[in-house]
Amino acid sequence: MPVLVMKFGGTSVANLDRIRRAAKRVGVEVAKGYDVIVIVSAMSGKTNELVGWVGETSPLYDAREYDAVVSSGENVTAGLMALTLQEMDVPARSWQGWQVPVKTTSAHSAARIEEIPTDNITAKFGEGMRVAVVAGFQGVSPEGRITTLGRGGSDTTAVAFAAAFDAERCDIYTDVDGVYTTDPRIASKARKLDKIAFEEMLELASLGAKVLQTRSVELAMRYNVKLRVLSSFEEQSDAAGTLVCDEEEIMESNVVSGIAYSRDEAKMTLISVADRPGIAAAIFGPLSEAGVNVDMIIQNIAEEGRTDMTFSCPTDQVKRAEKAMADAKARGDINYHDLVADTDVAKVSAVGIGMRSQSGVAAKMFKTLSDEGVNIKVIATSEIKISVLIDRKYMELAVQALHDAFELDKA
Ligand code: ADP
Ligand code: ASP
Ligand code: MG
Repeated sequence: MPVLVMKFGGTSVANLDRIRRAAKRVGVEVAKGYDVIVIVSAMSGKTNELVGWVGETSPLYDAREYDAVVSSGENVTAGLMALTLQEMDVPARSWQGWQVPVKTTSAHSAARIEEIPTDNITAKFGEGMRVAVVAGFQGVSPEGRITTLGRGGSDTTAVAFAAAFDAERCDIYTDVDGVYTTDPRIASKARKLDKIAFEEMLELASLGAKVLQTRSVELAMRYNVKLRVLSSFEEQSDAAGTLVCDEEEIMESNVVSGIAYSRDEAKMTLISVADRPGIAAAIFGPLSEAGVNVDMIIQNIAEEGRTDMTFSCPTDQVKRAEKAMADAKARGDINYHDLVADTDVAKVSAVGIGMRSQSGVAAKMFKTLSDEGVNIKVIATSEIKISVLIDRKYMELAVQALHDAFELDKA
């Protein structure tokens, strides 16, 4: 029988009623003749609570134990979903990541899926089971320890299962009815897209649009998984939601197709480092070893052989970055006067494959922000995106102004 993967995010399994509603959707697909693999997230808010408990217990925690704690939310919803389906007379069974096993790297809290053996679940389908409910977000390392895939990782679990089982489609059920030109929660004029190209979705996701985890889009692109985002709150037809697909499948697209933002950015400046060959390696090597994801980098103009070096990273990595720099300074590998962390910043980005062939997007973006009185602190560009770091208090204003300026409310 053809396999369908259905993933339900946190708000879609937030309580028993919602789990029942999701299970009914699953029942509809089973009735159509699919063997279904359901991937569940933890109930909404649960993972945040678990992350909070870890941080309170141990600020610079052991990542293996972080994963042991933080993965547990999904175990509860997987069992409850299987029970709910059984109550509906749908033969269902739950799996935790290690039971499948979802084999991952040992990069705790940011592990990558390496292999998903299909024999175990396929055998059960052969015995008449119709739904395999799998706890998303988690796997097992080569050392046999529980791992997690990074926040939002259930999306990646879903796409990886779709690829492994050669599923007909991977449906991501969430609390919005598709991918929009920007987050509909902060811009009321955001417009739902029927289709979006993999590359654009990849950029939007990596720049903060959390509707899909970045890695899930990467995997879908690599394994050609038919990926769809849709709402678990409305009755859905087969054409509902947004299809993430190849660029060629999209007839017409705007130069800019979406605006993304990320609240959780910090701007870190090393004041007065020696301007010498090797300094960048001496700074960014230890940051990378400490697991700090550096995004934007600026080296300021040097004066008398010294310079300031600015970089951005997620706010929750500021402590790690400070420690890595202090340790490097103590070892004598770098020397700086001060390390200033500005955690009141946000990143706003415009994304569009049309930018490859059309100029003027950056100029228009900067003019729009300047008209709104928003000061730009750092700029980064690539072939299909422009990002700026601004004061966080202007973030929503900037997103709305850019959405208007690029007329994203119009198709
Ligand atoms: P889930 O719990 O189902 O995984 P998430 O909260 O992770 O849901 O992702 C869905 C959220 O993504 C939406 O509620 C919306 O606020 C946010 N979002 C951000 N950017 C976009 C966008 N461009 N289109 C749709 N949703 C977006
Ligand atoms: N529960 C995890 C999180 O909140 C994984 C997910 O929902 O995708 O990040
Ligand atoms: Mg999510």
